[in-house]
Parts: sequence; C-alpha cells; structure tokens
Amino acid sequence: MARVAFIGLGNMGGGMAANLAKAGHDVRAFDLSQDALDRAKEAGCLPVASAAEAIKGAETIVTMLPAGKHVEGVYTADVFEHADPAAILIDCSTIDVATAKRVAEAAAAKGLLAVDAPVSGGIAAANAGTLTFMVGGTEAGYTRAEPFLAEMGKAVIHAGPSGAGQGAKICNNMLLGAEMIATCEAFVLAEKLGLDLQRFYDIASVSSGQSWSMTSYCPVPGVGPETPADRDYQGGFAAALMLKDLKLAMEAATHAEAATPMGKRAAELYESFVDEGHGTTDFSGIINRLRAQKVG
Ligand code: NAD
Repeated sequence: MARVAFIGLGNMGGGMAANLAKAGHDVRAFDLSQDALDRAKEAGCLPVASAAEAIKGAETIVTMLPAGKHVEGVYTADVFEHADPAAILIDCSTIDVATAKRVAEAAAAKGLLAVDAPVSGGIAAANAGTLTFMVGGTEAGYTRAEPFLAEMGKAVIHAGPSGAGQGAKICNNMLLGAEMIATCEAFVLAEKLGLDLQRFYDIASVSSGQSWSMTSYCPVPGVGPETPADRDYQGGFAAALMLKDLKLAMEAATHAEAATPMGKRAAELYESFVDEGHGTTDFSGIINRLRAQKVG
C-alpha cells in the first residue's frame, strides 16, 4: 500500500480520499478548512497541518481543488518543492486546458511525472467510488496513476497527452449542457402542444431524439427514472458547476478557434439561470426557466 498526499477535501475530494484510505493506503490529507480535515480523519485519513507535510515522502500526490489558480498555486508553492522525484502527481480538479498543460510542462521540466485526471460523476459517485476518470499525460504517467484512480472510480480512460483529460471533460460537459437545454425545450413544447409527457417520453426515448439527458436524467418530474426533477431539482449537478464547465469550454474553443454556437448559447442560458439565483439548483431545473420564458 502506498503513502498518498490528498489536497482538497471538499464535496468531491472528501469521498475520494476516504476511498483511498478504505483501500488501505496511508492517506495524508490537507485542506484549508478544519471541517474538511475533521471529516477526513473520521474517514480514516491522517489530517496534516500543511500541504508540504502531506507531500513530503508521498508516492502519490492527488489534488482536488476548485479551479486552475488553486492547482497552479499549490503546485508552485508546495508540490514542486517537496515532491519525491519518483512520485506521481495526479490533478483530478476540473480546470482550464491551458493551466493543465502549463503545470504538466513545469512538472516535466523538474523531472516529475504528472497527469490531469478530471472526473465525470458527482458527489454520490465520489463517495461510492464510481467516478469516471479521463487522463491526460504520457503512457508512463497513465500507467502509474491508473491503479489509484481505479480505487476511486468505475472507469479510467487514457484520453491522450497532457491537457487531454481536461479537453475530454469540457467537450463532454458542453455536449451535456446543450443537450439538456434541447431536451427541456422539447418537453416544454410537447406540453404546450397538449401532449401527454409520459407518452412523449415513451416515444422519444426509443426514437432518434433519445439522449442521456432524457432517459437517464429526465428533467420532468414523474417521467422516466428517478432524477433530481423528482426532488424539486435539489442535489445532482449544480447549475453553477455546469456554467463553470461551459465557460472553460468557451475559453478552450476560443484558443482552438473552434466554432461552438450551441455551446455558446448554452453558456449564456446557464449564466442567466445562475444570475437569477439558481446556482445551487440542479442543472435540469433550467426547464422551469424555459417554461416561464416570454416569447416574442
Ligand atoms: P469544493 O469547493 O467542495 O472543494 C474544494 C476544496 O478545496 C475545499 O474544501 C477548499 O477548502 C479546498 N481548497 C481550496 N484551496 C486550497 C488550497 N490551497 N489548499 C488546500 N485546500 C484548498 O469543490 P468540489 O465540489 O469538491 O469540486 C472540486 C473539483 O471537482 C472542482 O474543480 C469541480 O469543478 C470538480 N467537479 C465537481 C463535481 C461536483 O459535482 N461537485 C463534479 C465533477 C467535477
């Protein structure tokens, strides 16, 4: 079993660190929040007083932080200074592709092996150890990271070189954001046309309009499997996090000179939804905004 440093024990990192401890690893956990450290201790990790203390002597260093500036900050201030040259550095945060590449290049220049490994799946999947990891980095980096990621997830996929994990994540979530809005629109139109929504679901779910947003995450209460719609759009994937990912996708699209008109519109609609006070509402709750929107 390995000595693991885990930095960032929030909604996602808390459960992920707990799963590594459960698998028998010696997890030295650090977060700026005392509550998060207390929860990590209860979950079998050893809370420590600084990132440096967690990193020294660790074979594997995992970060699960809010955004690129936090990741670059922790890497620059602590990881590069204190990491064992043989350690594998794994950043599981969702951050911008440019920062992910810059951090990986800086690590390589110091002779350190680093991968970006963002996740698909929310807090429930982090707690249950059923996340999907998309890994960007060299074959050697992927091979070193994979056994640890496998203990926190159900699937670990090598997406390509450094930054490719973040690229895959934001392309997936841009597709999801646009698809969810399209699904909501279709149900609102069906409703206004007087269709029975369960009947429409029965038809569309076996027709060419079928999608994950419809059959696994239906935005209409009482239709399809149980989803956040059945819990008044609480829990699930917060609209603010969808907006974060759409903004990262738009930033990447600008750099790559890719046309993403549907992604752009989805970002605008989620931005309005969040600005109206729905940042913590599940992202499928945008159906209520469309339902209420005045036309013409
Ligand atoms: P969170 O805000 O709950 O947790 C982040 C943690 O990082 C906090 O506990 C904070 O105190 C800590 N932190 C910040 N700066 C730090 C520093 N310098 N040193 C140590 N700790 C520091 O966020 P989260 O929901 O756990 O998300 C983490 C990442 O995972 C984000 O990049 C997010 O986009 C991504 N993500 C989240 C979800 C989700 O459903 N919550 C799903 C997929 C991906």
